[in-house]
Amino acid sequence: MTAAAQNSLLAHLDTQPRVRDFLSRAVAADRASHAYLFVGAPGSGKLDAAWALAQALLCENGGCGACDSCVRVARHTHPDVHLYEPESAMGYLIAQVRDLLEDVALAPIRAPRKVYIIDRAEQLRSNSANALLKTLEEPPANTTFILLGTSTDIMLPTIVSRCQCVPFRMLSTAEATDAVARATGLPEPRCRMAVAVAGGPSRAIAFLKSADRQEARRCMLRAVDALLHADEADILLSAKELMGVIHAPLADVKSTQQAVLEQNADYLSRGALKQLEERNKRELSARERSGIMEALASVRALLRDVLMSLEGASDGIVNEDAADIVERLSRSATTAGAVAALEAVSKAEKRIARNITPQLTIEVMLFDIRKALICR
Ligand SMILES: [Zn+2]
Repeated sequence: MTAAAQNSLLAHLDTQPRVRDFLSRAVAADRASHAYLFVGAPGSGKLDAAWALAQALLCENGGCGACDSCVRVARHTHPDVHLYEPESAMGYLIAQVRDLLEDVALAPIRAPRKVYIIDRAEQLRSNSANALLKTLEEPPANTTFILLGTSTDIMLPTIVSRCQCVPFRMLSTAEATDAVARATGLPEPRCRMAVAVAGGPSRAIAFLKSADRQEARRCMLRAVDALLHADEADILLSAKELMGVIHAPLADVKSTQQAVLEQNADYLSRGALKQLEERNKRELSARERSGIMEALASVRALLRDVLMSLEGASDGIVNEDAADIVERLSRSATTAGAVAALEAVSKAEKRIARNITPQLTIEVMLFDIRKALICR
């Protein structure tokens, strides 16, 4: 295979061969739909497939992987491919959809067409979904929408009916681990841990590239490890430390945002600048939320290992690099205690989804886990 072909994203969609073949055929025959809905479980590779389709649609050679356009799409810097994600804990904001519709009305910048990727489309609540409907029905020529969702059941039927649905099969943990190992060349146990913490191959690969995110996991595991001998002050301190570690990667995001604001300060109107600032704030809180959810997923994976080990299935543990912690916790906990501790993690996830202060949520969770683990 040539170097160029290796950069062709669609050719490399090997965890979803049917989707790959279907989309390749549509692009090759020049009969791509104007609106797709990619449906599948988290971690099934929908977002990767969306970038791959965008690359194939914008390239003159159907996604060669080598041309300027293909390279830009692969780096997520092509000005005619726009990725939207919900900017509030409650889902998409109507302001986001207005922003999208304003952009749709503009001509493409470099490519002959534009692609809009709308992640977690089930979070388009009725008013924002309705604003989008008309455009989905009669999109401007040379515009492609790719909506991503976990299930058509939880989406507005009017949205679903306007899109061509593309089902994604669910990957087993072993398949996801293999995909991460192939992409990173790292040992299998590390890849399996990353899948458990981050949720799917592409997120796991990003996790393994981020020293900050891995440090947040280690910090979380240390906090749980210390619980057996922790007093109230210790728990409050470790929740605070953890928040510090989760916030560390946000400093980079903030400085990028600041640079963009400064570059635009001269020619954007005051109103537009204010809008950009608001969007920056929402991006920061969304990133904080996802950092916390990942820390919670780390605790969940650890407690599952404790449960496995208590049930005598310790060869199935995911956190091999933290086997000592798993062993210490399983020596003092009971099966019922580990189950109760896992429930404390679920409760914390729900609190974060309801926008309750992260630090408080972590504190409450750590107290609950301690109670569950030392109670006999
Ligand atoms: Zn190309």
